[in-house]
Amino acid sequence: MKLPFRSAQMRARILTGWLLASLLLTTVVSGQGTAPQTTATLSAAESKASARVRVETLREVTTALSDKAMEGRGTAQAGGERAAKYIADKFKQLGLKPLGDAGGYLQAVRFRSTEVSSETSLKVGDDSFMLGEDFVPAPPFTADKNPASAPLVIVGYGVTSEALKRDDLAGVDVKGKVVMVLRGQPKNVSAAQWAQEANLRAIAGNLIGHGVAGIIYANASTPQASYKEIADYLVRRNVALADAPAAPFKLPPIMLVSDAAANKMLAGTGTTLAELLAKAETGESVSREVSKAVAMEVTVKREQVTGSNVVGVLEGSDARLKSEAVVYTAHYDAFGITSSGKIYPGAADNALGVGELVSIAEAFTKSSPRPRRSMIFLAVTGEEYGLLGAEYWTKNPTWPLEKIAADLNFDGIGTEVYAPVKRIVGFGAEYSDLGPVMKEVLDATGMILTADPLPEEGVFYRSDHYAFVRKGVPSLMLLGGPEGETSKWIMRAQAWMATDYHQPGDIVRPDWNWDGARTVSVIGMLIGLRVANQEAMPRWLPSSPFNRARGAGEPPPSEKK
Ligand SMILES: [Zn+2]
Repeated sequence: MKLPFRSAQMRARILTGWLLASLLLTTVVSGQGTAPQTTATLSAAESKASARVRVETLREVTTALSDKAMEGRGTAQAGGERAAKYIADKFKQLGLKPLGDAGGYLQAVRFRSTEVSSETSLKVGDDSFMLGEDFVPAPPFTADKNPASAPLVIVGYGVTSEALKRDDLAGVDVKGKVVMVLRGQPKNVSAAQWAQEANLRAIAGNLIGHGVAGIIYANASTPQASYKEIADYLVRRNVALADAPAAPFKLPPIMLVSDAAANKMLAGTGTTLAELLAKAETGESVSREVSKAVAMEVTVKREQVTGSNVVGVLEGSDARLKSEAVVYTAHYDAFGITSSGKIYPGAADNALGVGELVSIAEAFTKSSPRPRRSMIFLAVTGEEYGLLGAEYWTKNPTWPLEKIAADLNFDGIGTEVYAPVKRIVGFGAEYSDLGPVMKEVLDATGMILTADPLPEEGVFYRSDHYAFVRKGVPSLMLLGGPEGETSKWIMRAQAWMATDYHQPGDIVRPDWNWDGARTVSVIGMLIGLRVANQEAMPRWLPSSPFNRARGAGEPPPSEKK
């Protein structure tokens, strides 16, 4: 069962927090005199090719894609298809050969979209509540229409656990009832034990196992996100690949409510949310039946829709090696437009990444000699919903996976436009011999290699290159960081994440330093060029957990480290 909260986005939010922390950490490290090695240098051809990476192209593509006319480039939405056509036209203008379906640049990807419909309702006693403002339904949505009408029962944290010697369902009958669950934790239990025994999955499983008719979570805010922020995500359209299996079970309707709505529900019951929480935190049970009736219904609109990956290729110059290719990826999708007309422009995430990809394609098409291996440029859709476009392409590749030398991915939060870039994070560098290639390029360009200081955060798993990794293709995700006072730009980044990340505020700003983004493109281009011209295709390090043959499926979980 998928977690009720769209944890991917929350995790991503935490992730970027950690990403920023990583940049901070490395500043400290680099302060201790790890000056760039100057031994590695660029060849004349490399310098010439680098010079062909144009800021104008970067700015033009990023600005065009994040313009309101693209309506937030939603996956399988009109705006998304407009963006796909725009990128395909760019590829055509650059002279890339089409590598999509039927001799075109577009690869059709079928999706199933799910959107909470405005018929979704909640009534408690005589009070009706507002969708979004007061409550939001939580996925997975296992039925198009999912009603429940029953008396309300407060069940504290909703936990039944031997280990904790706790049963919040003792003394109340929850079968066929709608239960109100408090999010939180009693003071007398360690966070680790609580996470073990009282995580969302355990609580929902316990309640559903006891036959509840519906679940209402109160005190839904978390340290990472307020109810308002969570609600903003949960009411958004969700997208899955059309062939993704539907949930093999039916769940009762599940909702989160704001604190104000929870208090309104508790009005006349002799208690408030704050009182309940205070008592529950002492470890005491607060479970009891309430003489109020709940009528709740979750209704979703599902559609079979089609989106597009956009893919083109610059054929290699070497008769033998041109059958192999280096792939550049960047997702062009953002959160699109809502039924109420709200647009998510996604300028830094990830119109900028597509701008970097197109500026690299331009530099290669205008350079000679061409690289020995072929160069594929793949702008994918559906990333925001779980790397879907990249998953689809690696399952239905338009170039044999066995012949893909490496994937170089651009995705980020815009740290590269804060100021001139001096630091480069190469996520994945430690797993294959792409690492040394990158190090040489950084040394040759005076960049500071920045290791991923928080591997436990798993940044490497969270963007499109990971779809290639799962298919055995060595890959890197590149992220650029500025020079100068770190605390100053850390604050800027955190402010950005709090207000603009995956929000309508992610727009192109007048103070963007486009040269920073150009530097990231140049580094990406040089790494790809060296991989395209080297004799052998990159290999995983024998110790790498991802070490498997290209094209081979993922090993069974038992073999995973
Ligand atoms: Zn992104």
